[in-house]
Amino acid sequence: MRLRALSKRVQQLELSETYAILDTVRKLRQQGEDVVDLGGGEPDFRTPDHIVHAAVNALAEGETHYTASRGTQALLEAVAHKYKKEHGLDLDANRNIIITPSAKHALFITLMTLLDDGDELIVPTPSWVSYKAMAAMAGATVKAVPLDGATGFRLEPEQLERAITPRTKAILINNPNNPTGRVLSREEAQGVVQVALKHGLYIVSDEIYEKVLYDQSRHISMASLEGAAPITVTISGFSKAYAMTGWRLGYVVGSEDICGQLLKVQQHTVGCAGSFIQRGGVAALEGCQQRIAEMVVAYKRRRDRLISGLEHIPGITCRAPEGALYVFASISDLGFENSMAFTRWLLETVKVAVTPGTAFGEGGEGYVRLSFAGSDEDIDEAIRRLHYAFQ
Ligand code: PMP
Ligand code: GLU
Repeated sequence: MRLRALSKRVQQLELSETYAILDTVRKLRQQGEDVVDLGGGEPDFRTPDHIVHAAVNALAEGETHYTASRGTQALLEAVAHKYKKEHGLDLDANRNIIITPSAKHALFITLMTLLDDGDELIVPTPSWVSYKAMAAMAGATVKAVPLDGATGFRLEPEQLERAITPRTKAILINNPNNPTGRVLSREEAQGVVQVALKHGLYIVSDEIYEKVLYDQSRHISMASLEGAAPITVTISGFSKAYAMTGWRLGYVVGSEDICGQLLKVQQHTVGCAGSFIQRGGVAALEGCQQRIAEMVVAYKRRRDRLISGLEHIPGITCRAPEGALYVFASISDLGFENSMAFTRWLLETVKVAVTPGTAFGEGGEGYVRLSFAGSDEDIDEAIRRLHYAFQ
C-alpha cells in the first residue's frame, strides 16, 4: 500500500524557529547542559497571585464547562471597559470582541477570515515568525516590506504603497514590534491608516506587547485613529503583560461584521477559550495593575543591563528597544557567514541561546534577537559568556 501524501499546504510550512530554540534549550538542559536562554519571549515572572486565585476559585466552583464561543460575559465586558478607558473606543461587548485561546489563535482566525487563496498580506519586516505560516495556511502569501535598520526600522507609508497589488487584502502591523522593539509614532501609525483607507485594505494590528513600553514611549492602538476602527482587527492577549504565557488567553477586537465571520472559525476550531482561564483574565484586567508596572520596571532594568553589556563587544551594535522584550542586535561586523552560523557557534561555544535574525524574514540577516524576558542573573551570565567568547 502506498499512502497518499499529506496536505501540500502544511508540508510546505516550516516549524516555528522560536519554538525550535525553546525546545533545543529544554533538551540541552535535560542533558545537564548549563544553557543561558536569551531565545524565547518567555517572562520569568510568576503570574500574579490574584489572577491565579481567581482561576483556582473558578475551578473549585465548577466552572469547568464550555462557555459561549465569544467568551464569558464578564471577560467580554472587561475587555470592552479596557478599550474605553485606555483608548476611548466604544465597543459592544457582544458584537466587537471574541475571546480566544491565545493571541496566536486570535491571529489565526483573523487571517483565515480575511485571506483567500492567492491573496497577499503586507507585513513590514523583520517580523514575528508565525505571520507567514498563518497566511500560508489560509492559502495566501506574505508580501514583505523590509524596513531599514539604519533608520531604526522606521515605517514609511510610501513603502507600504509600493507593495500593494490587486491581490493585497490587508496590512499586518505589530506594535510594539517583535523582534525590533520599535514602537510606532502617531505619525507612522496614521500613515498606515491612510494607506489602508485609500486602497480599501484591512489592518491587522498585533498589540500583544502594548503594556511593555520603556522611557517615553506611548502605545497608540491603531483602531483609535480616525477612520481606522471599521477596517482594523486588533489582536492582544495576556501572555506578555501579565506573565500568562501558559494560560493561552487572548482576544480579537473588530467590527461587528468581521467578528461575526471570525466567530465561525472560532466555533469550528476551538469552540471557546477555557472557562476557568477566562476568570483569570477578568482578574488580570480588573484587578490591581501594580504588578504589571513592577514587571515593566524589571524589564527596563534587564534591557539596560543587556545593552550596556553588548556595547563593550566590538562588532555588535544595537539600539535600545522602545517596547517589547527583545534587543535586535547587528552582528554583521563580526565576520560570521550568516546569523544562523553565529547563533550555532554561540550555543556550541558558550551555551548562550539567541534567535537568528533570519527567523524574522527579509531584513533579518546580519542580526540576532536577544530576549531579556529572563532573569537579571541570566542576562549578567549571558554577557559574561559573550565577553569570554569574544575576548
Ligand atoms: N504576537 C507576537 C508578536 C508574539 O511575539 C507572540 C508570542 N507571544 C504572539 C503574538 C502570541 O502570543 P500568545 O502567547 O498569546 O499566543
Ligand atoms: N512569541 C515568543 C517569541 O517570539 C514565544 C514563542 C512563539 O510563540 O513564537 O519568542
